[in-house]
Amino acid sequence: MFTIAIHGGAGSLTRASTNDQQEEEYKKGLRDALEAGYAVLARGGNAVEAVEKSVMALENNPLFNAGKGSVFTAEGTHETDAAMMCGRTLEAGAIAGVTNVRNPISLARAVMEQSENVLLAGNGAMDFAKAHGVAFEANEYFDTQHRREELEKAQEKEEGKNTGKGTVGAVALDESGNIAVATSTGGITNKKFGRVGDSPVIGGGTYADNHTCAVSCTGDGEFFIRLVTAYDVASLVRYKNIMLSEACDTAIQKLTQLGGEGGLIALDTKGNVELKFNCESMLRAWKNDRGEGSINVWQNEK
Ligand code: ASP
Repeated sequence: MFTIAIHGGAGSLTRASTNDQQEEEYKKGLRDALEAGYAVLARGGNAVEAVEKSVMALENNPLFNAGKGSVFTAEGTHETDAAMMCGRTLEAGAIAGVTNVRNPISLARAVMEQSENVLLAGNGAMDFAKAHGVAFEANEYFDTQHRREELEKAQEKEEGKNTGKGTVGAVALDESGNIAVATSTGGITNKKFGRVGDSPVIGGGTYADNHTCAVSCTGDGEFFIRLVTAYDVASLVRYKNIMLSEACDTAIQKLTQLGGEGGLIALDTKGNVELKFNCESMLRAWKNDRGEGSINVWQNEK
């Protein structure tokens, strides 16, 4: 039995500003990324490998706010955050405020597997990347016209909110019964002062434990950090002994109550999948080995 679920960001699309063709392009991006991870699981590969492959596909697709296509900082650069966690070992690796790394999720994996640390930031993380043969790109590689327009709009209005966000993430259950999570983001448009979101915060935007679940969040990062959302979902399952769906609903309720917008994907070792959010859209897809699954964008689509 194996299962994979992915997201490409919550609240980044509105019906008013998305036409049918754009919706299809996003769905194609989701499908390609889902299949990349699913193929790993189908040939008996492990959950860590599967989530990395799905997230890499989303990072390489300029439509999504991660890797190529990441939002611009106030200075016109791209600073990426990413994290990975293995539910079997509780090993985790994360990077924050990193520029020019082609696939931030692969750097997070290298931190998880080849360093004694969990979270590396900025220039130090890039030194580590160089020492471990991670691929680099020039700043222009990450540039896209739609993100530049978002930056200009945000700087005109001096409001970053609701213009240019999104994150990508994946959770997977492999044939051996292990789960893993990966999350990667460019953060929010026009960010400054070395702002880091929830994605690389273990327990905030990213968490996995075979005893409970794997969770990847997307949305207003500051809220997820304060609510420790990913770990909250796992803790609700573990200590309250409630269903994964109920735990996810509770976490989304808390987010809404605090005034935050966003969503999460979650998966447990029984193959239960949850895709929950409190805004108009969350790009999302899932698939298991029993032929079940879906690819959706808007609220109330199953
Ligand atoms: N959670 C991300 C961050 O705050 C952004 C997003 O998912 O929209 O960096």
